Amino acid sequence: MKDSIQMSDLRNQYLELKTEIDSAVLDCLESGAYINGPSVKEFQVSLEKYLNVKHVIPCANGTDSLQIAMMALDLKPGDEVICPAFTYAATAEVIALLGLVPVMVDVDLTTFNITAEIIEPAITSKTKAIVPVHLYGQSSDMEPILKLAEKHGLYVIEDNAQAIGADYTFTDGSVAKTGTIGHIGSTSFFPSKNLGCYGDGGALMTNDDTLAAKMRMIANHGQEKKYFHKVIGCNSRLDTIQAAILNVKLKRLDKFGMARNKMADYYDQKLNNINGLIIPVREKKSNHVFHQYTLRVLDNKRDELKKYLADHGIPTMIYYPLPLYRQEAYQKYVDENFEVPSAEILCKEVLSLPIHTEQNIDHQQYIVETIHKFYSN
Ligand SMILES: *Cc1c(COP(=O)(O)O)cnc(C)c1O
Repeated sequence: MKDSIQMSDLRNQYLELKTEIDSAVLDCLESGAYINGPSVKEFQVSLEKYLNVKHVIPCANGTDSLQIAMMALDLKPGDEVICPAFTYAATAEVIALLGLVPVMVDVDLTTFNITAEIIEPAITSKTKAIVPVHLYGQSSDMEPILKLAEKHGLYVIEDNAQAIGADYTFTDGSVAKTGTIGHIGSTSFFPSKNLGCYGDGGALMTNDDTLAAKMRMIANHGQEKKYFHKVIGCNSRLDTIQAAILNVKLKRLDKFGMARNKMADYYDQKLNNINGLIIPVREKKSNHVFHQYTLRVLDNKRDELKKYLADHGIPTMIYYPLPLYRQEAYQKYVDENFEVPSAEILCKEVLSLPIHTEQNIDHQQYIVETIHKFYSN
């Protein structure tokens, strides 16, 4: 049994959907329309409807979507973009790649996300944009971030690669999907993401017509009309076959979210009484779509617990082992006095457990029993 526990069980999900996915993929092969085939447009429209957003611009992957978003804002070299120090590198990578300056800030210790209070002191006359990342599947507290951005005239780009499908509730009771709240939202369809294809894929979202037209143009070699290039762009398309797969999966995204929540509820229930473990904190303003189920393992025991679980056939992951500014590539953006204490703590404490849409209750029971055994030794 233990050999087959997966961090994210993509194969069994495929087997559930096999008939529909196989036929969607074969239709693409039969059609001969391999680039920008009909499934891409179909997916765009379905995702616009699902997210209740005016424009979705499909592209090749999540990193490209962040890059295209930055390119559409006409920023100048040296302009500063605020992002979390505790995130996947892609967020800061595209900022740096465009000659902009990633200003990495700390995150909140309970939500793992950046907040308006943390962002504000980092704003300078050069700041042009903020990139909140909705880490592990839960929205950053967007309302205060939007207010702060408005006050300082800044763009907000949501990195929604981990939280597609999550809702955020404003104080007036209105609800919006993450990725549609800032000026631009970006997401990834990497296989293990909550809405994943079987290769690479990504998309941008916006309610702004001008930004939408610009991002569509940038993703298509800066062409306004075929062979007439208005700006320097890139080549970033969602593959037709991947779009066909996403069409099958998008219909199930809410069901997938519920399945992940069911696994998370079980972990919560079985692990909340262990001294030395902090289960994920669930925010009132955002539901959680549990891209990851991430514990904080206190008392310097994380690596020991990880090894113990591995020895018992249970895979776990550390997202992320280093704050970005301590990665070799990003050290040059900070001086020696730079500090992000909460991000430092989290890098030493976080441990993500297996979570996916195909709950195997025997596996899950075995996982929590093994964790209990570790703590009773
Ligand atoms: C996965 C991910 C990305 C990048 O997506 P790719 O499709 O792999 O390029 C960016 N940001 C975050 C937070 C991610 O989790």
